[in-house]
Order: sequence, then C-alpha cells, then structure tokens
Amino acid sequence: MKRTGKNILLWVLSVFFFLSTFIMLSTSWAAVFFIIPAVLLNPAISKNLQERFSFQSNKWVKISAAIVPFLIYGAVAPATPAAAGANNLISPSVSSSISAISSEVEKKLAATSNTSSEPVEQPAPAPKNGAKLNVHFIDVGQGDSEFIELPNGQTMLIDAGNPENGSQIVTYIKGLGHNKVDYLIATHPHADHIGGMTTVVNGLDIGKIYMPKASSNTQTFEDLLTAIQKKGLKINTAKAGVNLFKAGTLNADIIAPVNITGDDLNQYSAVIMLTYGDNKFLFTGDAGNESEGQITSDIKADVLKVGHHGSDTSTSQAFLNKVSPKYAVIEVGKDNSYGHPTAATLAKLEKIGATIYRTDKDGTIIFTSDAKTITVNKKSSSIKEQAPPSSAPAVAAAPQQPAPAEKKPEVTAPATNNKSVTVYITKTGEKYHTGGCRYLKKSKIAISLEDAQAQGYGPCSVCHPPQ
Ligand SMILES: [Zn+2]
Ligand SMILES: [Zn+2]
Repeated sequence: MKRTGKNILLWVLSVFFFLSTFIMLSTSWAAVFFIIPAVLLNPAISKNLQERFSFQSNKWVKISAAIVPFLIYGAVAPATPAAAGANNLISPSVSSSISAISSEVEKKLAATSNTSSEPVEQPAPAPKNGAKLNVHFIDVGQGDSEFIELPNGQTMLIDAGNPENGSQIVTYIKGLGHNKVDYLIATHPHADHIGGMTTVVNGLDIGKIYMPKASSNTQTFEDLLTAIQKKGLKINTAKAGVNLFKAGTLNADIIAPVNITGDDLNQYSAVIMLTYGDNKFLFTGDAGNESEGQITSDIKADVLKVGHHGSDTSTSQAFLNKVSPKYAVIEVGKDNSYGHPTAATLAKLEKIGATIYRTDKDGTIIFTSDAKTITVNKKSSSIKEQAPPSSAPAVAAAPQQPAPAEKKPEVTAPATNNKSVTVYITKTGEKYHTGGCRYLKKSKIAISLEDAQAQGYGPCSVCHPPQ
C-alpha cells in the first residue's frame, strides 16, 4: 500500500514536470531542464532505466533532479528570452534605431486610440424646428477644411488645411461664436488636411475625434497625435458604418473607407454623408476611384465636396452619376502646381448639371440649409483684392462678431497671403517643403515662400506646401 501511494505521488510529480516543460518553453529555452525530473521521477521510466542500465536513482538523485531545473531556469530565463518574448525586451534605444519615427507614431496611436467599446453617451440634441445648418468650405488655399454649424447647436470640423492655416481656422471658428468642435474629423493624414489640426486641437475644446486607420511618419502627423495625447483625448476609427450622430432629422454617417489596403493614403479618406431633413451633403476628403467604387450606401446628395481637389483620380463617372449633385465644391489653391482641378473633372461636373464653386475663385463658400432648401453665400469674390500687403504677417481677418452668415460683408479668406509664409528647403534639393515634411530630416533651411519661388524652388509633391 505504501509503495502504491509513493508511486502515485511520483507519477503526479512526473506529469507536473512534463507539462511544465512545454508550458514554460514559451518563456525560455531553459525550461527544457524540467524534462529531467519528469523522466527521473516517473516510476515506469526509472524502473526501465534500472533494468537496462542498472542505474539506481535514489532519493537524493530524485530530489536534486526536481530542484536543479528550477535553479537553472531561474538563472538563465530572464537573460535569454525565447523568440516570442524577445521584442518586448529589446531596449527602446535599439528598437527605435530600427524604425525611428514609425515606432513613435505607433506608440502615440496606441496611446490615443479609443479601444473601449462605445460608452453610454449623451445623445446629440435634436434640432429645433426651422434651425439652420451652415456648412463653411473654408478657403485654405491648396487644402481642405469644412466647418459645419449644426442646427442643434453642435459643431463639426472636417480637416484643417495646411500648418499655416491652423490659427486662421481657430480665429474663423471663434469669430462665428464657437469655442468647441464637437466632432473633429481628420479625413486622412496628408498635410493639406491635418496640417492646421494641431493648432485647432490646442486652441478649441474638442469633443470626439475620428481618423481612418492609416498612419504617416510625417512630423505633422506626429505633432497632431502628441497634441491629442496631451489633451487626454482619444481617436475613434473612421470607417464605413460608423454613425457620428443622429438627432431627429439630423444625421451624419461615415460611409468610407470600406475595405482599403495598400499605401495610397488618399483612398483611406473618411467620407461623410450629412443629412438634414431633405438636404444632403457629401464630404469626400481625397478619396479616389477605388474607394468610391467600394461605397455601398446611398450617396445621392445636393452638395458634393469634390474628391481630391478636383483631381482626375477621383470623381469617377459611376460615382458622380449616383451622387448627382446640384452643387459641387472644389477646395483648391489658386494656380496650384498639381493642375487641380482637371478639365476632365470640371467637364463631368458641368455635364451632370452641378453648379461649381471653387475656393480659389470664390473664397470661402457657405451653404445654409433649413432642412428643405439650400442657399449659397460667398465670403469673398477675389482673394487678391482682400489679401493684406505682402509685407504684413499672414493673419486671418476673420469676422469680428458672430453675425449671421448672410450679413457678413467682406471677409478675408484665410491663407491668401502665402507670400509671407515660411517654407523650408534642403541643402541639395530643388523643392520647398512645409515644416513637417519627411524630406527635411537631414537638412532644414527656413526661407520665405517668395524667396523660395524666386530662387527657382518648386513645391514638394509629398507635403503640398503653399504656392
Ligand atoms: Zn488633399
Ligand atoms: Zn491627400
């Protein structure tokens, strides 16, 4: 009886060490030593060993067989991680040298992304009868920014132009009497869309932030993540199927990106359908033909913010037929070097019967809806006339009082005084850049835009500097 009891105990210990071997191997190779007590303590195996090799394992052999592996494991394991755990133990300096900025960006993205399942939130208040919706297509030169005064008193900002537009946008929003952006959307991480957003995040109260799952290694993008992190805000993923708010006849849905892969950031653009009663506004960011083709929801709209500044990589005929807009708005810089908007896109829009507005010609354009009809108001008809003298600093002359849009007489469009803007060149390059461009890693020389152009530098096609 005594012998059976002892055998059961040895079997249990043997099995314990066997299992330990396999479980612990995921933490360190040193766990292989646990196989020794598993073998030596096993009554069947040790009997076999005795018979074959006349090896007599006494009590002390068994005890040390059980203890020694623990000692080896304890000494070796922390220093030699198995492959699975290795990444966590590489010192930060080593891993950062592997991919300097991207790991920083990833860390910040992880710190700011909203992973919690949607908490119980205050629903958006419903608009009062007859309340007005104002959509401001802000003239930010070659870039996008749309500020929306919702009829329920809330506000939304889609994109914030280039870095030099940030303070102009903040001034513009404050001039309308708002201190808060309830819904902030960065359509995609290009500098002509998120450039001014850091200043917006720092300068105004921010509610919820939405961005597509697409990151960039530019300083501009990293700065934005830092600003969001510092304010303790979280980023919600912008993708098809996300509802921004619904309150009575007021609704906003994100309808793209649907299923974008690859590295064309434009295709990841958040596309937003805003509905107020009978009126619909479609905001496309820089979404191209690929993304347009994936959208499955109803896209018929009264007003279309034309994709990618009127480039011919967006606004496919099939997409345009479905939208069938009454009004098309192109946010574009005067005499930009990209050739935006293209003649082909303009022709398509004309053919479908859309009235075309362009920020390079019309300045800031404001659409007002009472849920039934839409009226259009332009803030400036000529950018040049209203631009301050080129020696003056580029300060936005935003409206002083929050008067109704219709009554505002002449308001200077922001970012019109590009000549006094600072851009950056490199020692050897032929292009000029915005401060956050990735080409400025090795050398970064500040220069006025005027001088850069006079010296024959051209605009960088990656960071879209002012022109
Ligand atoms: Zn763009
Ligand atoms: Zn873009």
